[in-house]
Amino acid sequence: MSVPEVKYTQIFINNEWANSVSGKTFGTINPTTGETICDVQEGDKADIDLAVKAAKDAFKIGSPWRRMDASQRGRLLNKLADLVDRDADYLASLETLDNGLLYHTMSRPFTGWSANMLRYLAGWSDKIHGKTIPIDGDYFCYTRREPIGVVGAIIPWNTPIILTLIRLGNALTCGNTLVLKPAEQTPLTALYLASLVKEAGFPPGVVNVVPGYGPTAGAAISEHMDVDMVSFTGSTEVGRIIQQSSAKSNLKKVILEMGGKSPNIIFADADLESAVEWSHVGLFTNSGQVCIAGSRTFVQEEIYDEFVKRSVERARKRSIGDPYDPNIQGGPQIEQVQVDKIMDLIESGKKEGAKLECGGGRHGDKGYFVESTVFSDVKDHMRIAKEEIFGPVQSIFKFKTIDEVVERANNTSYGLGAAVFTNDINKALTIANTIQAGYVWVNVYAAFAMQAPFGGYKQSGIGREGGEDGLDEYCEIKTVIVKIPEKNS
Ligand code: NAP
Ligand code: MG
Repeated sequence: MSVPEVKYTQIFINNEWANSVSGKTFGTINPTTGETICDVQEGDKADIDLAVKAAKDAFKIGSPWRRMDASQRGRLLNKLADLVDRDADYLASLETLDNGLLYHTMSRPFTGWSANMLRYLAGWSDKIHGKTIPIDGDYFCYTRREPIGVVGAIIPWNTPIILTLIRLGNALTCGNTLVLKPAEQTPLTALYLASLVKEAGFPPGVVNVVPGYGPTAGAAISEHMDVDMVSFTGSTEVGRIIQQSSAKSNLKKVILEMGGKSPNIIFADADLESAVEWSHVGLFTNSGQVCIAGSRTFVQEEIYDEFVKRSVERARKRSIGDPYDPNIQGGPQIEQVQVDKIMDLIESGKKEGAKLECGGGRHGDKGYFVESTVFSDVKDHMRIAKEEIFGPVQSIFKFKTIDEVVERANNTSYGLGAAVFTNDINKALTIANTIQAGYVWVNVYAAFAMQAPFGGYKQSGIGREGGEDGLDEYCEIKTVIVKIPEKNS
């Protein structure tokens, strides 16, 4: 497959392309080779100010966007979905170049999935209803679900197309306008999607995309007095800063999708072959760079040794290399900083007494690859048991009873995903009801649906994206009470 040509590297405001006010640029890197792909305009506070002004103007009462029929918003989103499908091969290829996502099994299918997600959200645009409420007295009471205003979206580098389009779809179907900052590591697909927004016919200022760094461009969004809501996906550390910025500025609404340390619980009665495979997929997908990665695999003692043996065999078979190659199962990590963090955690695991069953080192001498790594005999106090690794490192723990595993699984500040493998419905439902997590899978890992809400308990998140519940986050509710005259004159 040939390397895709990069078409857009500027800042997108008011349906126009511009250089940064400061004149600065930054390089975006191909993680497969470690080489710079191209330079991109580096937005910071001055550019965010322009983008927010454009988004605020586009949201003014009487503007084309505010006067547009809700059904027409849906049509525009459907048009955008068609354009995403039209250019899906190119978009996916650009995602693989900038991010290292496997082309055939990830970036290409994820792009098609994102187009369908846009269609699902488009369908909601004229179905965002209020209620009529029978209040006491001679009154007519109804509610309206109204857009909030200017939504700022700050997203990370893993799966940028999905994360860009879910923000865009949620914000726009409800009638908001958007200023989006992609991650510094992966700005290219968000910029190409901006060109499709213009082609689809959205009015100027409805969508604005400003590439740049977190502490400058990102902070300018979260501190802005004219941004009415921030939707953030990223680390818990930065999520905390975003919420502080909201408190210090205009108390904008904040929804946060953050990290995890998700438990994956395998009971002795489970279908072993299936549990080993799903546990492998649930951790090693995207080389472990997934917020809901099953990074704490708890296995019941009767099957522990066999489970470890099969998991190691499976990890050894995982092919690592060129993400455009259809036979490859593992691509690169996103950047050197992440590789260093993963290697540090692997070293800590060895030092703290976990048993390194396979992997543990760098793979190859070009790009940011790490070997598929499995640790057994992992104990709850170890760093690899507590910290988000975000790399291809499977940690396998042993447990005896259901009460014990529930307590240990919940003993974390995170609460994003969880899974249970068992053929006993009582065990499955006990785990589903007692694990503190926003998403629980039974006999499968990481099955997702655009129609269902996604988000975290505890320090993994505030609010939900996806489904009807996700759309609620992007609306204000207004109550209107009308006096009904006692007598008609
Ligand atoms: P990150 O460092 O928190 O970055 C996320 C975004 O925040 C980036 O756009 C980043 O800008 C920006 N940012 C950084 N500092 C900022 C600041 N002071 N103010 C405003 N914005 C700022 O996260 P990451 O390490 O790139 O991504 C991995 C994390 O995301 C993991 O913890 C993972 O679990 C989480 N994640 C969660 C979900 C979910 O749905 N729950 C999904 C995917 C990933 P730069 O581009 O300049 O860094
Ligand atoms: Mg890159």
